Amino acid sequence: MKTIKYFILFFCFSVFTNLVFPSEVNIYTSRHYDSDVELYESFTNLTGIEVNIISGKSKALIERIRSEGKNSPADIFITVDAGNLWKVQDYRLFTKIKSKLIDQIVPKNLRGENNEWTALAKRARVLFFNKSKYTYEELKNLNYEDLNSPQWKNKIAIRSSNNLYNQSLVASMIAKYGENYTETWAKGLVSNFSRKPQGNDRAQIIAVANNEADLAIANSYYLGLMLSGKKGEKQLSAGKKVGLLFPSQNKSGAHINISGAGILKTSKNYDNAIKFLEFMLSEEAQKHLVENTYEYPINTKVQPSKLISQFGLDFKEDSTAVSQFGKLNSAALRLMDRAGWQ
Ligand code: FE
Repeated sequence: MKTIKYFILFFCFSVFTNLVFPSEVNIYTSRHYDSDVELYESFTNLTGIEVNIISGKSKALIERIRSEGKNSPADIFITVDAGNLWKVQDYRLFTKIKSKLIDQIVPKNLRGENNEWTALAKRARVLFFNKSKYTYEELKNLNYEDLNSPQWKNKIAIRSSNNLYNQSLVASMIAKYGENYTETWAKGLVSNFSRKPQGNDRAQIIAVANNEADLAIANSYYLGLMLSGKKGEKQLSAGKKVGLLFPSQNKSGAHINISGAGILKTSKNYDNAIKFLEFMLSEEAQKHLVENTYEYPINTKVQPSKLISQFGLDFKEDSTAVSQFGKLNSAALRLMDRAGWQ
């Protein structure tokens, strides 16, 4: 009888504390996908932990976390590009992610130093060509390293140097070859631009579809997005005209970047934050991610979306640690400036 009394008392206490202090996790995210919200809802359904979201541009969110200081409600920061995660780590805002499960699922080169952040999905920065002009066989041995060759004069479309994806690509070249080689390479690449850099990644793929350029450098998932039809009829038909090529397969492999997250040092819900990140790397969440954003999964039990796996699954990935991208970011920026990359 006594035990039952205690049990009822404990039960009422738990309900009460949960009502007054609901179990929650607060996420600041710069990922602009509506599909992420559905994912957060499944996490709540599974765990009972409420997810509160603040979304915005990466730079603004980082500034916000800094100015909120100790009082920041943020538990997790989610963003794209390892360069952004590195910035947060550099400000010493992250704490170590202690999870054996995450260590098991995420390869070391896709985590931050001291496990202060982890990848949630991968993206490859690849080449696009017009299928009516080239065959895959003709181009399959192409390397990033070859893109400075006079053969490609006025033929390459890529966005501007203020884009972080490009800065990370250049940083990865510096990590592999050093600044001297990379600067010569970048100068050659810039002299091959088909036009002054403009527009986003999809605009480069469209330029290739419209024969305004022979090659475009852009992230893999944008072709998946175009082929999904979510961006309209015009982009769907542009997407059908282009082929996707993984460069440098006989060298270091295709440049890999990530979407990722870290837990903030000031987090008041650390255990919930770990549960959330583990959930994001689960089969269920990874499936949802890749089917909606066309990125590559981190969890090897999950296959990429068919829209993107049709271009190849067993390509070689560059294994340069993504933490290098942030570390070498300012060197990359200066180098791109010297190379005249606008
Ligand atoms: Fe993107």
